[in-house]
Amino acid sequence: MEKKTQESMKIGREAENAAPGSNTPGRQPGEKGEEPGQAGQQPGKEAAGPEQAVGETHKTDVKSMTLPELESWLSGMGEKPFRAKQLFDWIHNKQASSFSDMTNLSKALREKLEKEAGLVVLKAAKVETSGIDGTRKYLFETEDGNFIESVRMTYSYGMSACISSQIGCAMGCRFCASTIGGVVRSLTAAEMLDQVYRIQADSPARVSHVVVMGMGEPFDNYDELVRFLHLVTAKEGMGLSARNLTVSTCGIVPGIRRFAKEGMPVTLALSLHASSQKAREEMMPIARKYPLDEVLDACRYYFRETGRRVTYEYSMVNGVNDSPENAEELGRLLGHQGAHVNLIPMNPVREKTWRQSPKEAISRFKMELENYGINVTIRREMGRDIDGACGQLRKRYTNQIL
Ligand code: SF4
Repeated sequence: MEKKTQESMKIGREAENAAPGSNTPGRQPGEKGEEPGQAGQQPGKEAAGPEQAVGETHKTDVKSMTLPELESWLSGMGEKPFRAKQLFDWIHNKQASSFSDMTNLSKALREKLEKEAGLVVLKAAKVETSGIDGTRKYLFETEDGNFIESVRMTYSYGMSACISSQIGCAMGCRFCASTIGGVVRSLTAAEMLDQVYRIQADSPARVSHVVVMGMGEPFDNYDELVRFLHLVTAKEGMGLSARNLTVSTCGIVPGIRRFAKEGMPVTLALSLHASSQKAREEMMPIARKYPLDEVLDACRYYFRETGRRVTYEYSMVNGVNDSPENAEELGRLLGHQGAHVNLIPMNPVREKTWRQSPKEAISRFKMELENYGINVTIRREMGRDIDGACGQLRKRYTNQIL
């Protein structure tokens, strides 16, 4: 992981593209900035990277720091290395929400931290619980007055948190509410972590799985994503297994190839949603930049490098991508290579005209794919009664308060 300088850990510089407290979009849907996910750059920077903006003060973002970084920062303040371990434990293991809670630190150090450090803590502006399946949807407010969505789902294997990686999204997928209004900025690792920590604090059982599948394209915020993954799996912190983490991309080829080399056995999910290049271009503008054959090639590379099978996500949209011909085309594309396809009954989005495929069409599609030796699951619909589709709650809430 790239080591952050202390300067880049400062929080509080104003966003380049977004005034604090505003929801002014940066890039609009489909409009691209720098090439995301390439080595030696900071993807998503033009949409305000983590070093640029959170809150109004100029404090150091200690929640985004690794243990060695904390040690070096604290030693610059004349503190012993064991203090870094204690601080890391409070932040990532006990998940404290204020420095005053950190009772085994000296009063003098706590006062120094209050002055010099920021402990990013998200506020829950709204929480909704599904009466159908108990799924809980959170609208968190960031310190600069923006809103992001996270979801907690309960499965037989435990609790899973679905988190956002950006405020809004620049990718412009036609079926998605998160992209309406473009991207405001990328989230810091601390803001990604704190979605998990706030959800954990609100949960009766351990959050064992995390999926980065909420608002935003994770590889458009590559460096902070990887930093987040290292921190959430740190054994001195929450210690989640990398195998219980999933990162979902719309198909940023350089990001997939770079991620394959990170040495983390994280599951990769590709938002595929179409069975041909032409159909994919109509649904997802990113397909014009990264053609389907290149994306699938990058996914195969990811599998070879990590040994982790890629999950192909396919939203079932009535009359758009759910015909028997589509199933056959997809079968030919992915058959006989150990692929796993997850069919998603599309959650309707008010602002979009597309609707969910009927149940029979989804079952028929599944059977067709299975004929090609593909492992197929149908995603359980979660939180349908609480604006389950990603980006909808934020849209509704900000419309009300603006
Ligand atoms: S589906 Fe994902 S990548 Fe596409 S617009 Fe929505 S959040 Fe962005």
